[in-house]
Amino acid sequence: MVGADREREALARAAALVAGARRGVAFTGAGVSAESGIQTFRGKDGLWRQHDPYRTSSIEAFLQDPSYYWRISAERWPAYAASRPNPGHLALAALEEEGHLAAVVTQNTDGLHRQAGTKRLVELHGNGRRVRCLDCGAAEPREEVQRRLERELPPRCRACGGRHLKPAVVFFGESLPAAAMSEAFQLARECDLMLVVGSSLQVYPAAHVPGTAVERGVPLVVVNDEPTPMDVAAEVVVRGRSGELLPELLRLVRSSRPERH
Ligand code: NAD
Ligand code: ZN
Repeated sequence: MVGADREREALARAAALVAGARRGVAFTGAGVSAESGIQTFRGKDGLWRQHDPYRTSSIEAFLQDPSYYWRISAERWPAYAASRPNPGHLALAALEEEGHLAAVVTQNTDGLHRQAGTKRLVELHGNGRRVRCLDCGAAEPREEVQRRLERELPPRCRACGGRHLKPAVVFFGESLPAAAMSEAFQLARECDLMLVVGSSLQVYPAAHVPGTAVERGVPLVVVNDEPTPMDVAAEVVVRGRSGELLPELLRLVRSSRPERH
């Protein structure tokens, strides 16, 4: 089979599995938001080709030199704030609405699944649209901080004047939110399909979530631009861009359903 035929056939098999699912879980990573204009960390166009991941994303480096983080964040924020859900996010919301997915578990911090209409969303790495002061606990929208960044590096907390404002995201060296973790594992123990989208599956402990479903023998479908370490365990691997593939998958799922009168 030539490449295009092979991809079409893989997508059809993936759609048949999704169509049969009643409590599937989508596990997503940065790749699902790439077509919304948000750079991934890993992968060929990843941000880490430009920046040292330890300096930008570890709690230890952040506490030593918060200005380094905020300088990069100040540059990236306008594109991040302007980003909108793409057809991949919307297709996942539709699959939940139509009874195939129970939830989306995401490693993303961009909030785009929520904007797309996903109702049950588990955010394992927090949400970058909020900022919290590590000294006094005050919270404010990230957007507010952006206005201060031009004259104030690192930005100061408006409540206590401290210099430890941190985005409400999980950095390397921090633990994941316990409630989100336990909800994600519960979903993985109960799901009848695991659909991985746009994740390199190299970030732990998050990647234990699809791993838990795989250990139970639940079918795994991977939709990703590049190979992942779990491809060997997958029932179907569809290689390509999720913003194009997921709407097509949704169309196939819908057309495989008997008409309701
Ligand atoms: P990753 O950056 O490690 O990997 C992204 C994967 O997506 C790669 O394997 C790449 O091949 C694939 N990909 C790229 N474009 C794609 C597309 N259009 N369609 C399908 N696949 C595509 O992402 P990760 O595994 O999610 O881990 C990175 C960590 O960094 C996450 O835990 C997250 O917290 C954080 N992060 C979040 C965002 C965001 O919120 N949008 C962006 C960057 C990083
Ligand atoms: Zn404070």
